[in-house]
Amino acid sequence: MIEKFINQIEKEEAENFAKIEKIALVNQEKVLSAFRENKISSRHFNPTNGYGYDDVGRDALCRLFADIFKAEDAIVSPLITSGTHALTLALFGILRPNDTLLAATGRPYDTLEEVINGEGIGSLRDFGISYMQCEYTNEIFDYDTIEKVKPKLIIVQRSKGYAWQNALSIEKIAVFCAKIKEISPDSIIMMDNCYGEFVETKEPIEAGADIVVGSMTKNPGGGLAPTGGYIAGKKQLIEQIGRRLTAPSLGMEVGSYFSSYLPFYQGIFLAPSVVSSAVKGCYLASKVFSHLGYETLPSNGLPGDIICAIKFNTEEELISFCRSVQKISPIDSHVTPYPWDMPGYSHQVIMAAGTFVQGATLELSADAPIKPPYIGYMQGGLTYQHAKLALIQILKDMNINI
Ligand SMILES: *Cc1c(COP(=O)(O)O)cnc(C)c1O
Repeated sequence: MIEKFINQIEKEEAENFAKIEKIALVNQEKVLSAFRENKISSRHFNPTNGYGYDDVGRDALCRLFADIFKAEDAIVSPLITSGTHALTLALFGILRPNDTLLAATGRPYDTLEEVINGEGIGSLRDFGISYMQCEYTNEIFDYDTIEKVKPKLIIVQRSKGYAWQNALSIEKIAVFCAKIKEISPDSIIMMDNCYGEFVETKEPIEAGADIVVGSMTKNPGGGLAPTGGYIAGKKQLIEQIGRRLTAPSLGMEVGSYFSSYLPFYQGIFLAPSVVSSAVKGCYLASKVFSHLGYETLPSNGLPGDIICAIKFNTEEELISFCRSVQKISPIDSHVTPYPWDMPGYSHQVIMAAGTFVQGATLELSADAPIKPPYIGYMQGGLTYQHAKLALIQILKDMNINI
């Protein structure tokens, strides 16, 4: 009986689930305090139009995020279309011709490849910014290269992304940042924080990062933010990035939103709780599949992000897994996902995303590049119960007998 099998694992992991809930409590308190300190009130939800001068909703939302992420300043904006856009904005805002960008955790996220190295499309390379990559083999940083190169900007990916490695813990980020301050003190450390927010009780800036970047349709949007991205960090860097978001003469003085900021506020308020549900779902999935003899991530301890990665045996299993997740989604449960050539990705990708907000991967979703070793990624889950129901469906459709 599949359900019984999963219930049993749930029981065995009760202590770890309690730990995840404790983290949520700390984060909820942190977010709540930031709301109170910033005296957020209903006037901040009002829509604005035109230039958006004196848009108090925009300004207070930025302040709120700065406080939550313990940063000097922040930009949170529906004008940022996605995580990729937020990261691009930060890179172009900070880097100048002849600067060097170094990726410290191997190949950065797929959609950044062309941003960095594309030819003739306005990439960083087109603007004379050089790029270096340090491999992160066996989850070990290549400090020697960083010390030699002393890059202007170091980009570090917190989550596992599409790589077979554990997410970086805040503890590991702290060790990395301390070492960089020692061997290359002028390098700016930028954290791709996608999928990492509220998974631990601290965020990368508290561990020494200079700037963090993420998507509002992932963790910090709490499932409610309809679009957007955020960037938080050193005041001077945020100012540079703001001038890139709008215009060098305007910065963050402008930017209106003719819809309400309400879902952004409500979303960040819910985020600690929703993220903890997603973390529990991710953790349960990794335990269930590892009991069944599959290699899974997270492989040691509690998750460092909201992604569970599973190495399937065949392409068929991988596709079946994604289709089950689609089938058990609240939206578009009747459609069948197929592998396709998605913009920004080098392999065919299959995606299950029966989400309320298009592409919102804090909602339960699954995806996989179609290539051996057939790794499937499951992330999110607005509720833990949904993730559990999905797991039951996945195992049923795979004809697993237990
Ligand atoms: C999702 C993600 C991105 C890109 O965000 P999009 O909103 O999909 O553009 C970048 N880096 C990591 C690690 C991500 O998980």
